[in-house]
Amino acid sequence: MSARILDGAAVAARLRAEIGDQVTSLVAEGRRAPGLAVVLVGDNPASHVYVRNKGVATRKAGMVSTEHRLPGDATEAELLALVAQLNADEAIDGILVQLPLPAQVRPEKVLAAIDPEKDVDGFHALNVGRLWGGETGLVPCTPRGCMKLIAEAGRDIGGMDAVVIGRSGIVGKPMTQLLLAANCTVTIAHSRTRDLSEVCRRADILVAAVGAPNLVTAAFIKPGATVIDVGINRVAKPDGGLRLVGDVAFDTAVGVAGAITPVPGGVGPMTIACLLENTLMAYRRRMNG
Ligand code: NDP
Repeated sequence: MSARILDGAAVAARLRAEIGDQVTSLVAEGRRAPGLAVVLVGDNPASHVYVRNKGVATRKAGMVSTEHRLPGDATEAELLALVAQLNADEAIDGILVQLPLPAQVRPEKVLAAIDPEKDVDGFHALNVGRLWGGETGLVPCTPRGCMKLIAEAGRDIGGMDAVVIGRSGIVGKPMTQLLLAANCTVTIAHSRTRDLSEVCRRADILVAAVGAPNLVTAAFIKPGATVIDVGINRVAKPDGGLRLVGDVAFDTAVGVAGAITPVPGGVGPMTIACLLENTLMAYRRRMNG
């Protein structure tokens, strides 16, 4: 039997179209469009691609997108001044500072300076606390997208065993909170977990957020489980080029799982769609509707 493929590109396109329709209605009512500001410091090539893609998606949804670039040797004070300026800008509803930041800038200082009501990445301590406290708020985009893909598998997940491999603040930890809020019994695994494959084989829902190609083989997967592959790894092709793979050995996993996300085309597109959703949510919260 072959697993159902959870097509993140299609789900994300649907979500982006829905958001675009809502923005069109707001503008038709004479209201301003939501605005997202993206801040990029330095010349990290991957960050440039992410920032460009976010800008394109934001504009396509009818929102206002602004990009703010600082040189790689910018000081923390310069970046904090820019964040303060964006916090005060009434036309900006969401602020995203692209990570990683150069060594001279402390990311925790910068993330703490973003107005929590504009924190569309959901990384501010207040929003982290809201998530752990069970309040609705701005939730990190990647785990939010994973939950939508899990829903796409069409199963009632209440009471299911879920295992999340990875405990980062941007994916693993918020993912566990969302699964817990959806009434799953949740286990977090990490690099020190003993018998990882055995722990994973208990999972009705298995989320891999590690950054290790082919870590999760078919032997880790309970037959029929929903498998969400967050990993993005660039591996060499025989011709010398690079290709993207996830953390899951897709070719064999697909024969055991009940539903599975591909890489690329799974979680990745959902992250940007959820960023737009968070921006619209931030707008509505700020504008009271
Ligand atoms: P981090 O490096 O911050 O965290 C990786 C986690 O994996 C850590 O908790 C680490 O454990 C754990 N880990 C490492 N090796 C193993 C192992 N052998 N067995 C079990 N656990 C292990 O990564 P991120 O959370 O930021 O990202 C994870 C992956 O997701 C990356 O490939 C990243 O590129 C991708 N990603 C994809 C996104 C998307 O939009 N699709 C968005 C964000 C990330 P420990 O804590 O013990 O060190």
